[in-house]
Amino acid sequence: MVSRVIPVDPFDLVIFGGTGDLARRKILPGLYRRFCAGQMPEDAAIIGAARSEMDDAGYRQMVADAIREFGGVPPGEDDQIARFLERIGYETVDATGTGGWAQLKGRMREGCVRAFYFSVGPSLFGAIAERLHSNGLATADSRIVVEKPFGHDLASARALNRTLAQHFDESQIYRIDHYLGKETVQNLMAVRFANVLFEPLWNAQYVDHIQITVAETVGVGGRGGYYDKSGAMRDMVQNHLMQLFCLIAMEPPAKFEPDSVRDEKLKVIRALEPVDPHHIVRGQYAATNGDPDYRDDVEDPRSTTESFIALKCHISNWRWAGTPFYLRTGKKLRARASEIAVVFKDAPHSIFGAEAGRHRNVLVIRLQPNEGMTLDVTIKEPGPGGMRLVDVPLDMSFADALGPDAQDVTDAYERLIMDVIRGNQTLFMRGDEVEAAWAWTDPLIEGWTARGDVPKPYDPGSAGPEDALMLMHRDGRRWREIRT
Ligand code: NAP
Repeated sequence: MVSRVIPVDPFDLVIFGGTGDLARRKILPGLYRRFCAGQMPEDAAIIGAARSEMDDAGYRQMVADAIREFGGVPPGEDDQIARFLERIGYETVDATGTGGWAQLKGRMREGCVRAFYFSVGPSLFGAIAERLHSNGLATADSRIVVEKPFGHDLASARALNRTLAQHFDESQIYRIDHYLGKETVQNLMAVRFANVLFEPLWNAQYVDHIQITVAETVGVGGRGGYYDKSGAMRDMVQNHLMQLFCLIAMEPPAKFEPDSVRDEKLKVIRALEPVDPHHIVRGQYAATNGDPDYRDDVEDPRSTTESFIALKCHISNWRWAGTPFYLRTGKKLRARASEIAVVFKDAPHSIFGAEAGRHRNVLVIRLQPNEGMTLDVTIKEPGPGGMRLVDVPLDMSFADALGPDAQDVTDAYERLIMDVIRGNQTLFMRGDEVEAAWAWTDPLIEGWTARGDVPKPYDPGSAGPEDALMLMHRDGRRWREIRT
């Protein structure tokens, strides 16, 4: 298969926070890969902006180091990197001050796409939006890319939406959730809406339940200060898991266009039932072997913030009435693994008798590692000896059928940045979606805060607290194993 990479229009991309961790680990290496793939036009310009004093040459060196460290660059690409660096510049700009804005404006060209990536702490989002406007950098065609977290609760998300709306139209605001940039997440939509096979079964009549797992092996590490004010619910469920949940549960949009897709996602969030407190399990990693506990990592010996959460929720609509959705995410778990599993119901009658055991079709959408999809189907175990049944996974990633290009290594960030340049908001969250997600999560957080609930301890390297396993066992179901 020949890869069809279509170059995007000429652009000026300013990365506020261009010296930060996200820029160095994800954004800049991703842009380099798009350059190597031939997607970046000759006259693209990328300008880093932060408070640190640096000239273009200094920043180019930093970018080259970042590409080599995080870009998976094979040896011998020095010429390629040098050509990429010709597009890179740097301006010292204080987001909360007046310095550097005029110089930044001086670098921007007329007549090409302007994108401003806010890769800075969320407290600076409003200040940058305001200064882009007051310094005349924002044109009618400019776009801003806003990182997570988008607010801390409904009130702060609304306030941020209002602030951004003073300076930019909703069609110019790209709220990024990199989970939506993953190849399999988009493949999920293709599988659902480009085939007749799945959609007739995609409902409460045939689906027993759906599990969404986002498991990490790392602890809170150096992010303890931020994380302890946030916790797994705010940091992961309100955004990433909610987005996956919407795509799996939404009605077919009329078109694969931004507002068609986002309207359907919004309807899912609005149809979510409040969660019974007994269906929420919060956990905190607590080592028994002398390794640091969560509380050591966040330097608060009495912290009650959750590093793990599992919950069961329901959607009140015709499609999903009665089908439970189980969500879980946590840190310091057994393996780094993110997946969605659609577990179909048993066949209504088994002609093979009880000894054939229980067999169910399971569609697994694997986000990381090893992005791909499998469908477990039940077949006869080959060989003599009677009719024995076995479940085998059908690999739906089709890497073999489509050739090496099918194993696309495009990172979610680079895919999404190219969408920004193309002006395609389909894979970005709209303001009302984010607010609706907070409107659902806020009462749950307020509930456990008011009750004084304390998270259950769990061993690092485990699957979370015992109660999380019980959440499913009580319903006669079980979580899929967390494994890479
Ligand atoms: P970081 O490493 O702390 O970098 C922050 C950047 O902002 C630096 O370049 C810093 O440079 C710049 N900055 C700080 N104050 C500034 C000011 N007043 N004016 C201009 N620039 C300023 O943070 P990060 O980890 O890259 O995260 C950036 C954003 O992405 C955050 O919103 C974070 O929540 C989000 N995010 C990060 C990750 C990740 O993996 N890192 C993942 C998801 C989301 P100077 O100090 O030189 O000004």
